[in-house]
Amino acid sequence: MRQTLSKFARSFKVAARKKVATTLAPFLRPIWGGKGCIVMLHRVLPAPTTPRQRFGPEQHYEDSVEHVEKIVHWFFRNGYDPINIDQVEERIKQKNGRRFVVFTVDDGYIDGYQHIRPLFKRLNIPWTFYISTAHINRTVLLDAHLLERRILAGDIPITLELPDSSVSTCYCNSSRECDEFISKVVSFSKQMEWEKYRDWCWEQLGRQNLEDLADQLCCNWDQVREMAHDPNIIIGAHSVTHSPLALVSAPQLGIEVRDSRKIIESKIDMPVDHFAYPYGSVSMRVIEEVKKAGYSTAVTTTCCNLFEQNARHIHALPRISWGANDETTFNTAVSGADSFILFRGQRFTTRGIPD
Ligand SMILES: [Zn+2]
Repeated sequence: MRQTLSKFARSFKVAARKKVATTLAPFLRPIWGGKGCIVMLHRVLPAPTTPRQRFGPEQHYEDSVEHVEKIVHWFFRNGYDPINIDQVEERIKQKNGRRFVVFTVDDGYIDGYQHIRPLFKRLNIPWTFYISTAHINRTVLLDAHLLERRILAGDIPITLELPDSSVSTCYCNSSRECDEFISKVVSFSKQMEWEKYRDWCWEQLGRQNLEDLADQLCCNWDQVREMAHDPNIIIGAHSVTHSPLALVSAPQLGIEVRDSRKIIESKIDMPVDHFAYPYGSVSMRVIEEVKKAGYSTAVTTTCCNLFEQNARHIHALPRISWGANDETTFNTAVSGADSFILFRGQRFTTRGIPD
């Protein structure tokens, strides 16, 4: 009962905050719109002809090609210059000038090659593709995708022995039950060493199933190489295993930050100067490692526009994300109203990031 009440109180608070942010958006935009913003995308697919049912956290990381095009036109209409990540520092430091927008895409899904590349080429938009080498090497653990597909295929109930030895069954009686089941499974990936979680996934979900899914959903090196040679596209690093870096050991952190860069550079034969933190998992120790590795910039998943002070925190740049296909959420996020409320009138820098 107490749990239900606190859940209700939490969702009420979120809804109330959203309402206040939406009301404040037009008033805050002139100042809190900042110098510009970095937009974060993950999966981008053509809009389905009939609405699809979705389950699990991945549904929040997918947008449609049509909606992204609408967003690009919104930025054009509102006078934003599309630039790429390598120009951000210079533009933040400029005293005057038009607002700018940088489009970034995380992970390494095939959508980057099949849908985002032609869309942005047609619209003449430069963009950065942050790839984790696990996605390209088919070692990524697409556990949430796999469970969602099993549910959609009617392969239910699903019973798993979880990494903590408890047994969990999803009977799929409601969307909520399915969402919670997938989220519970995926949460272990953020609490365990990557190899241990991988072994659990292989045992419970099937190694072949995961590799087959990665084959369908991820780019290959030929495609990455082709994109790297497109003058409109910058390839950035997004770690080796796509682990939350604030939680990994010091030796593993070195591998994630340095080896991802070395691997990508050896494949595309070009320098890799920009980094994105998987899950936005960041600490000062992680930021120092990224700086030491020589990256010029690094991006988080914290939602905020960019201001002059971000030039002094170029390895912890905020990005704007929005709920897929939700215009109001997008407008509020870009106006700066969300972050104004979230940071209580402060701007996002490295202040508040744990050691
Ligand atoms: Zn990612």
